[in-house]
Amino acid sequence: MLHLYDTATRSLRPFEPLEPGKASIYLCGATVQAPPHIGHIRSGVNFDILTRWLSHSGYDVTFLRNVTDIDDKILRKSAEAGLPWWAWATQNEAAFTWAYDTLGCLRPTYEPRATGHVTEMIDLMQRLIDTGHAYPSDGDVYYDVRSFPAYGSLSRQNLDAMHPAGDTGEIGGARPHKRDPRDFALWKASKPGEPTWPTPWGPGRPGWHLECSAMATRYLGAQFDIHGGGLDLVFPHHENEIAQSVGAGDGFARYWMHNAWLTIGGEKMSKSLGNSLLVTEIVKRWRPVEVRYYLGAAHYRSNMEFSADALDEAAAAYHRIENFYERAVEFTGEVPASGAMCAEFAEAMDDDLGVPLALAAVHNVVREGNSALAEGNQVAVSGALASVLAMTEVLGINPQRWHQATSSDLTPVVDALVQVALEQRTAARARKDFAAADAIRDQLAEAGVIVEDTPSGPRWTLKDR
Ligand SMILES: [Zn+2]
Repeated sequence: MLHLYDTATRSLRPFEPLEPGKASIYLCGATVQAPPHIGHIRSGVNFDILTRWLSHSGYDVTFLRNVTDIDDKILRKSAEAGLPWWAWATQNEAAFTWAYDTLGCLRPTYEPRATGHVTEMIDLMQRLIDTGHAYPSDGDVYYDVRSFPAYGSLSRQNLDAMHPAGDTGEIGGARPHKRDPRDFALWKASKPGEPTWPTPWGPGRPGWHLECSAMATRYLGAQFDIHGGGLDLVFPHHENEIAQSVGAGDGFARYWMHNAWLTIGGEKMSKSLGNSLLVTEIVKRWRPVEVRYYLGAAHYRSNMEFSADALDEAAAAYHRIENFYERAVEFTGEVPASGAMCAEFAEAMDDDLGVPLALAAVHNVVREGNSALAEGNQVAVSGALASVLAMTEVLGINPQRWHQATSSDLTPVVDALVQVALEQRTAARARKDFAAADAIRDQLAEAGVIVEDTPSGPRWTLKDR
């Protein structure tokens, strides 16, 4: 049975979903103020493995990951770039989508944008005002943290000892119209030049915490199974989400899961780092599946310190799996249907997604498969290959899928390169330099490209591997 570490109780709990056979997950997604660094995609990969494992275990999974498309940084950076805020947000949302896709994260069931859910936010604020948990003040709307006795329980903090500081100065600060310096903004009154939405308390824009409560319950209902995010979101973001939703009378999340950071120099990767760690740059140096292997290989609750050496090691480990796949397919002449996972793999995954042990099980089967190859034992090779494919599928690193994806992606590139060579060959033949023409054809053959002369000109195909 699957056990998950629940941050709220600080314990491993058996996963018992609200509705048998179904699993609902809300993951705090990106604030789309810049394109993603590799560190920003870790939670995407970790929670992709969770959804894949739940689906494999027979659950019908509804997975939400939101997009925060309005915030102070989006406003500031879009103004600096001379673009409307929505153009800036759309461009960076596309960069995140590309990165998730490139690293093999399955698309969420729904991916709502904050600015499309102001109606739900107004409803939630009204409920909080009606129940005495929130109050309007000079066009802002604040949450009264003293009205919610459980405030601080997720992050295990006592309100009286809590330092009045938080994200973007929302908590504390010098705003005199708060009842308590720890009260946080649900809604911010408009400032000149900023985008606004109308509310009964005046025009303004949403606070980040309110967005997630409103979107989670809009799509998953008043109560749902798992709420996830990076460890840095426990306080204040998730604490505030609980205060909002539970304060308004919703059951909200039943399990809280948090992934640790990918650090650099011991610090969380920030968007102010240089470009070298952008996903677009990383995948020039390592293949996407290697990056995926690297991000998924550590336990999701373990901190990872970024290093090129560690990425090289991950790539080498993946090559061992890929190499077995290629040799096994060549030997058996077919890709078998996905087979049975070994018991160690399933046990590791059920133990709070123990990917490190699960990967060790994959590598054990690869070693057994390599021995079977050496012995020429076709049945054993097929069995090992089928098992490896099933296990790697759950981790999003199935070499068969990545092989297909890569070959189709590269076909236009290979075609363009072969055309260049073929034009040179045609030119050599035109000047009757047959030695040069044959040399080009031989070199292509060595690279696995077979050239055939047809009445309509040369045609090329890839030699079967
Ligand atoms: Zn959130």
